[in-house]
Amino acid sequence: MGSIRIDAVEAASKKKPLEVAVPTEKVSAYFGKKVFDRAKMYKYLPSDVYQKMLDVIDHGAALDCSIADAVAEGMKQWAEEQGVTHYTHWFQPLTEGTAEKHDAFIEHDGKGGMIEEFKGKLLMQQEPDASSFPSGGIRATFEARGYSAWDPTSPVFIIDDTLCIPTIFISYTGEALDYKAPLLRALCAVDKAATEVSRYFYPNVTKVQSNLGWEQEYFLVDEDLYNARPDLVLTGRTLMGHDSAKNQQMDDHYFGIIPERVMRFMKELEIKALELGIPCKTRHNEVAPNQFEIAPIFEPTNLAVDHNMLLMSLMKRIARKHGFRCLLHEKPFAGINGSGKHNNWSLSTDTGVLLHGPGKTPLDNMRFAVFIVETLMAVYKHNGLLKASIMSATNAHRLGANEAPPAIVSSFLGKQLTELLDAIEKTDDKDIFNLSGKQKIKLDIPVIPEILLDNTDRNRTSPFAFTGNRFEFRAVGSEANCASAMIALNTAVAEALTLFKERVDALIAKGEDKFEAIVKVLREDIVTCKPIHFDGNGYSDEWVKEATRRGLDVETSCPIVFDNYLSDDSVKMFESMNVMKRFELKARNEIKWETYTKKIQIEARVLGDLSLNHIIPTATRYQMELVKLIEGMNRIYPAAEAEELTARNRKIVCEIAQRIDRIEQMVNTLVENRKVANVIESEREKAIAYHDTVVTLMDKIRYEIDHLELLVSDDLWPLPKYRELLFIR
Ligand code: ADP
Ligand code: MG
Repeated sequence: MGSIRIDAVEAASKKKPLEVAVPTEKVSAYFGKKVFDRAKMYKYLPSDVYQKMLDVIDHGAALDCSIADAVAEGMKQWAEEQGVTHYTHWFQPLTEGTAEKHDAFIEHDGKGGMIEEFKGKLLMQQEPDASSFPSGGIRATFEARGYSAWDPTSPVFIIDDTLCIPTIFISYTGEALDYKAPLLRALCAVDKAATEVSRYFYPNVTKVQSNLGWEQEYFLVDEDLYNARPDLVLTGRTLMGHDSAKNQQMDDHYFGIIPERVMRFMKELEIKALELGIPCKTRHNEVAPNQFEIAPIFEPTNLAVDHNMLLMSLMKRIARKHGFRCLLHEKPFAGINGSGKHNNWSLSTDTGVLLHGPGKTPLDNMRFAVFIVETLMAVYKHNGLLKASIMSATNAHRLGANEAPPAIVSSFLGKQLTELLDAIEKTDDKDIFNLSGKQKIKLDIPVIPEILLDNTDRNRTSPFAFTGNRFEFRAVGSEANCASAMIALNTAVAEALTLFKERVDALIAKGEDKFEAIVKVLREDIVTCKPIHFDGNGYSDEWVKEATRRGLDVETSCPIVFDNYLSDDSVKMFESMNVMKRFELKARNEIKWETYTKKIQIEARVLGDLSLNHIIPTATRYQMELVKLIEGMNRIYPAAEAEELTARNRKIVCEIAQRIDRIEQMVNTLVENRKVANVIESEREKAIAYHDTVVTLMDKIRYEIDHLELLVSDDLWPLPKYRELLFIR
């Protein structure tokens, strides 16, 4: 008897690596081929329009509507040469992924025919019928429609036959309905605040840019096996499945040889990504079997976020072509590592990286210390918010689960940086940075940076680690839009720098020397933000106690963690930095709670169905086989002997019965608990009820099912097992 599972395993084992057309040119020749980048602007735009566009992109000049028609015309000309027939505004609504609605270039020409047309106003602004995108009540309260508006800082690109225009998505009254709008505001805030602080040291700085380099982890699963797992198809993760005897314990997958089928997928993904201007640099196997990583070179944060969204959709599409499914879920398999997306973050001026420590001059050292400490101040003050920014129903499986970052945000600094901050704090030498040229070097700071670079010593348990010239925010989930974390982090740093400057300026106004004032405030802050600094083991129970004592946020319940967005400190920060208003935050939280509930609800339903329709019938069938065997034995052997010979079988029949019974009872309770939760009005309370009464029960049901998997005859088991899902041949 062929079962779905056996057929799927067989189909998967027969697949051959796909041929991939590799361009004959060098990467540098086809990089950005599908992007309307500067070179193409130069070629396709009139020179005055080109200059104005550069001003908009590089200096944030206002977009002059008068040039829009010329820009649109140039874009259309380039796009048509590439066989493009449609265009779309491409935006990032508060659901997952990106949204697009394609329109053809064609219009009536007024003479009974058609003409290709693309006007500036279509490039600049559109009104997608967006009523089905979540707005958390914003649209109901304000204005029914939303509109999308072009973000000229992220270049237009081509996918298939469509010109994609990155846009923000906002309501008529300006409230953000997406990720990009608040991200751009946060980047603007950190630019302003960091530029002002930089000018203490380098008066010529005119712009500070926030950078992001993400590292995308993912799993690949054969498509046939995937299709035989309704839980993977409907929820993105396995809701059941006993550990494979072999998984990651040998550490033989990490950086190991990439299987050929996977290699071809990666190759094609990279080519497509490079054509779209995504600077892919690194690829390797990850820790868990079937887990991989792709990472580009870092870019300005807005662009990096768009590129990550684009890459995630490319990954899904190209994986299917190669007979795989790409799993971006943070925890597709229990018992092995989940997937994250480290966000490497830094600030740089038009003249250099601000978090870089090669202190050629004492001034550089002081700048370095200020930006490090103010980043720590931001993380300290808003550690709960930063956690909320990366929290989701799916990422909750990683946080605190003894593998990925713990559910407490703290920062790893390493020995040298710690010593540096201690020295600044403790010395009573006002001239510690040797700024007045007296040549007395109390603290040999100029040598520290080199040691720092050696000290990329990785504390893998730290959710926010300093790694030489950047911080690495490691708690971000693989499936997440990086914008969420980047909005919170950049806004928090903008606020910390703003407050820093206010205090320094107040001292200067009282007649204090500028550098002495800076050191004074710096010292205060080093002391204040100490509780966020933790270089120890983030997984230990002692850390939870210690972190509680330090006043850090140790909450683990996802819906409650979201409350951090509405704390007084958060609202004050977002409002004062002009990033979001209280009611926008509130609306967005409503969406977060609702999304959480829906995800758990779907999982619970799927688990219930699989339990009742797949698992229990299978276990019962096996039980029947055993019962028949026992009956047969009773017929052939004398009673006492038969009893002895069937002892093991009877034990299994009994254990199956007990487990089935427990599963059935718990599935019933699960349904009851959902019913109770579903009638709760408040989205927050409903999400909490789902967390407290549904999630916990799902784990217990799984426990019983996984034990049944061990008992029931392998040929009857309906769902591909972990050992089959996890090893691509
Ligand atoms: P890892 O050892 O953690 O895998 P990599 O050296 O591969 O680190 O770099 C990871 C990411 O960090 C890459 O995207 C890289 O471009 C990025 N990165 C490096 N320097 C910076 C920086 N100063 N600011 C932001 N990102 C950076
Ligand atoms: Mg890393």
